[in-house]
Amino acid sequence: MTDEVCYERRGAIALVTMNRPRYRNAQNSAMTYALDAAFTRAVDDDGVKVIVLAGSGDHFSAGHDIGTPERDVDTAFPRQATLWWDHTTKSGADRRYSREQEVYLGMCRRWREMPKPVVAQVQGACVAGGLMLAWVCDLIVAADDAFFADPVLRMGIPGVEYFAHPWVLGPRFAREVLFTGERFGALRAYEIGMVNRVVPRAELEQTTLALAERIAGMPAFGLALAKRAINQCEDQMGMRAGMESVFGLHHLAHAHNVEVSEDSLAGLDPAAMKRAAT
Ligand code: ZN
Repeated sequence: MTDEVCYERRGAIALVTMNRPRYRNAQNSAMTYALDAAFTRAVDDDGVKVIVLAGSGDHFSAGHDIGTPERDVDTAFPRQATLWWDHTTKSGADRRYSREQEVYLGMCRRWREMPKPVVAQVQGACVAGGLMLAWVCDLIVAADDAFFADPVLRMGIPGVEYFAHPWVLGPRFAREVLFTGERFGALRAYEIGMVNRVVPRAELEQTTLALAERIAGMPAFGLALAKRAINQCEDQMGMRAGMESVFGLHHLAHAHNVEVSEDSLAGLDPAAMKRAAT
């Protein structure tokens, strides 16, 4: 396993941990593909019944890597989520669309469809691309210090690539989260049904593992079918089609940014995003 992601088997549970704590587990492509490899390993291991997704350090994930020294948006990886062509040989909107379809939207959809239940263990920041990862998990256990936000409207972008907002937040609160870009805490997330448990930070791991253990007592195929049932119904509620249509708007925003500012993120780096948030 690579440095970006740690994999540990504890009985019937596979613990997959994002491991870039220095950068608040910002997701570069190396991490995305390491996560994919870890999930594949967990699915292929018949002894694993439930997967826990965690982040090392004080934060679950601050989002996609938009400015660490290991940012690797120009690197080609063997594609797993789509058969769209390699982005590194393309330019303009073609390049961005190819990459984000594979690395962001495609990967998240692929992970959501794993046949084993996944429980997210969330502390600290769970922001933008971090939200995408938590949302593809079946259950979310949050520490009381967890906070959530999708602030990309500051870049002129109408939400992150995996646009589950109206389904997981409800349309009214989704508008508030997008329009203000403000953080909301674990209790608010619990009240609206976005997370399953809120516990003191010191009890986060223990509570998550206990929940995973309980689920692991169920028959594997039954769990896979129940997961599929919920996913299918969510999609019948329009999530997949909605997300597909909004991905086009997301890329319209990226392209507009390139036309009127210095780059597809409207020239905002992590420091500028942080300044805007305070
Ligand atoms: Zn994007």
